[in-house]
Amino acid sequence: MKVLKFGGTSVGSVDNILNVKKIVEAIDEPVIVVVSAFGGVTDQLLYTSKLASQGDMSYQKELDDIMDRHLNLINDVVPAIEQSHVLQQTSTMLEELENIFRGVYLIKDLSQKTSDTIVSYGERLSSYIISFVINGSKLYDARLFIKTVKQFQKHIVDFEMTNRLIKEMFATLPKVALIPGFISSSKDTGDVTNLGRGGSDYTASILAAALNASILEIWTDVDGFMTADPKMISSAYVIDRLSFIEAMELCNFGAKVIYPPTIYPVYHKNIPILIRNTFNPDAPGTFISNEQDTGKNKATIRGISSIDNTCLVTVQGLGMVGVIGVNKRIFRALADNGISVFMVSQASSENNTTFAIKNEEADLAVRVLNEEFALERAQGEINDMVIKKDLATVAIVGEFMKNTPGIAGKLFGTLGRAGISVIACAQGASEINISFVIKKKYLRKALNSIHDSFFLSEYKMLNLFIIGVGTVGGHLLEQIEHQQQKLMKQNGVKLNVIGIADINKILMRREGLDLKTCIRDLYASGLDSSPELIIDEILQMNIFNAVFVDCTASDDIAGLYETLLNNNISVVAANKIAASSMYKKYALLKETARKRGIKFLFETNVGAGLPIINTMNDLINSGDHIFKLEAVLSGTLNYIFNTISEDIPLSRAISMAVDARYAEPDPRIDLSGTDVIRKLVILAREAGCEVEQSDVKTNLILPEKYFEGSLEDFWKQIPALDAEFEEKRKKLAVKEKRLRFVASMHDGVCQVGPVEVGSHHPFYELEGSNNIIMISTERYHDYPMVIKGYGAGAEVTAAGVFADIISIANIR
Ligand code: ADP
Ligand code: ASP
Ligand code: MG
Repeated sequence: MKVLKFGGTSVGSVDNILNVKKIVEAIDEPVIVVVSAFGGVTDQLLYTSKLASQGDMSYQKELDDIMDRHLNLINDVVPAIEQSHVLQQTSTMLEELENIFRGVYLIKDLSQKTSDTIVSYGERLSSYIISFVINGSKLYDARLFIKTVKQFQKHIVDFEMTNRLIKEMFATLPKVALIPGFISSSKDTGDVTNLGRGGSDYTASILAAALNASILEIWTDVDGFMTADPKMISSAYVIDRLSFIEAMELCNFGAKVIYPPTIYPVYHKNIPILIRNTFNPDAPGTFISNEQDTGKNKATIRGISSIDNTCLVTVQGLGMVGVIGVNKRIFRALADNGISVFMVSQASSENNTTFAIKNEEADLAVRVLNEEFALERAQGEINDMVIKKDLATVAIVGEFMKNTPGIAGKLFGTLGRAGISVIACAQGASEINISFVIKKKYLRKALNSIHDSFFLSEYKMLNLFIIGVGTVGGHLLEQIEHQQQKLMKQNGVKLNVIGIADINKILMRREGLDLKTCIRDLYASGLDSSPELIIDEILQMNIFNAVFVDCTASDDIAGLYETLLNNNISVVAANKIAASSMYKKYALLKETARKRGIKFLFETNVGAGLPIINTMNDLINSGDHIFKLEAVLSGTLNYIFNTISEDIPLSRAISMAVDARYAEPDPRIDLSGTDVIRKLVILAREAGCEVEQSDVKTNLILPEKYFEGSLEDFWKQIPALDAEFEEKRKKLAVKEKRLRFVASMHDGVCQVGPVEVGSHHPFYELEGSNNIIMISTERYHDYPMVIKGYGAGAEVTAAGVFADIISIANIR
């Protein structure tokens, strides 16, 4: 014999009820079917009670809605010949309910007993109606055999009497016994009671255990027990098998898929539980039994669950140290007042005991403990109780955690990288569950980070904010779109662009933007942008594995990095401003990233897509020492020197560089070497030198006066230098030499300026706007390491930014 339970979600609509009929009628052995109230009805009954008890007339509208819903369903699901009878009986029940509500409304009072009576109608109505839908079913009244006694403010099952009554009632079984879940009655008074919210699961379990069913099937709206609540974590997936203990640990901590007390009766009788999906009956579901999973899914962590209603109470005082019996008094006082404690943590100094309870029980807990320890408080041995509300408790669960080192390390490391601080934690010696308490506002982020870190065998997720969607940012978006599928398949990395912005507009979506249309969407529906709004939106989103990608050249955007890093958001910058600003600032950003276990990367700041900074870091990290750097780092200047010829004078070469978009619109920024100085400063710093831009000795290629006036003056004056430059070039050509604008660092001394290089020098053959860098180190001494290639261009820069992003995915 089997017991099947269908939850409110499974009996929410006509189609769902017909699904249930199909599932039950296909079974060819006796079954007990337990049903919940129609989906949402329990909530609606409680809400209507509240309105009525407050004297709010709108309760009537809610009630009408409840009544209509039941009566309409009858028309759709009950066979025609029985409809009038069922409608009549149902109307009688609904009239009783209406009378109770009227009473509540008139006297504006809602006792526990009345409230229990009202909610019982949910299951009474649903089971009555469904008993006419499933062929051959016989309806039973659960109040006749599920008996409760009162303990503190709760009704708990009297198993002795309940088991006896069930056995009597079901001495012979019909083909389908249909039973309302959730409801029960008091052993002493006979009044209707219930087993608590979600209690239909428990009804089913009690029946299965009392009658030695072969299996308890819980039919709901998900494919099974999942690694986490699918409403919180979209990538949660179904766990095929769980042990009773694991299931108990998970549902005790909020995995709503099973009501926690449900496990115990069947566990005791070793009756397995199968979680199945009413809407997808072909899915295998989750099998819960006393066997440990030894199959391929032997993951150390089986699931994560959480409770957001958490308050921590701390009893503290030097007078507690070494005194026997303080904990006994704490827990006795709480128990005597019916306060349930779900997590305890005590430091080995015994100086304090912290425990977790529900927010609504906090004030009572503090009152009873203050009374309990009144004497000690008066003597200063114990301080006043400290409470922290609005917290959340998270548990990670798995039987294989036992004897596996490093789980707690990985857990807390993950939380640390996400910038989430753990307020209290507990792990029992059974090593099946590690629980910890955090601020409620971090719950979603914590669950996602942990799930990503422990479960996502399929892929790791990175959430990207891309600021600046011009040439570099635009190419980056295209490249991400192009690579997205391949990265997921081959590298197990999922890049989710959740925000883009430029100087005018900003667009953020937690679930990710459509890369095909996002730039259009940005201008169509983005908010007006500002650096303040960008940072506010990002921090508010409070999302895990976040990366801020700066494809602007903006000072204001670079000014956001410190806050971002301090909120554990990695930064990838194509923007050179931060890394080349004051040394102190650069060092602070790097240090902040290091301390927080995240990344601040700016490979493209020098040489665009060329692997310069990473290569230098690899050399240094492996114990080498860089003592000399020589490089051509300005694409513009190299282009100009390569272009000047008999036919093309300096002034023309400069305007050609502007036209080809190598140079800035004001080419003096390139000609003055400002850009090269920035790049050199970054390289020297990465090589280990503490330098500022002002430390770089600069030899200009043009006399100072050409930089002074307006841009117009510049274009007017510059042809005056044409002849001189051509003369110089010719002279050099005769000697087989060329001019290069070289940046160098030698033992910490930095300079930039024009250098004449001979035909054997590696810089002699440097085409177009290419860059080259020679790195001399202790290991690469006689023959320096040389890196050469395109040093500018949106496409290669975007590719370099992309590579930085990927390297962040790989550190997790
Ligand atoms: P029913 O009405 O069938 O009793 P519930 O709403 O009580 O259904 O429970 C099913 C819901 O539990 C799912 O829709 C899901 O959102 C939630 N849930 C929370 N944690 C988990 C989990 N770990 N696995 C599956 N579902 C979960
Ligand atoms: N109808 C009850 C509730 O919503 C019991 C249940 O669905 O399990 O809490
Ligand atoms: Mg439920």
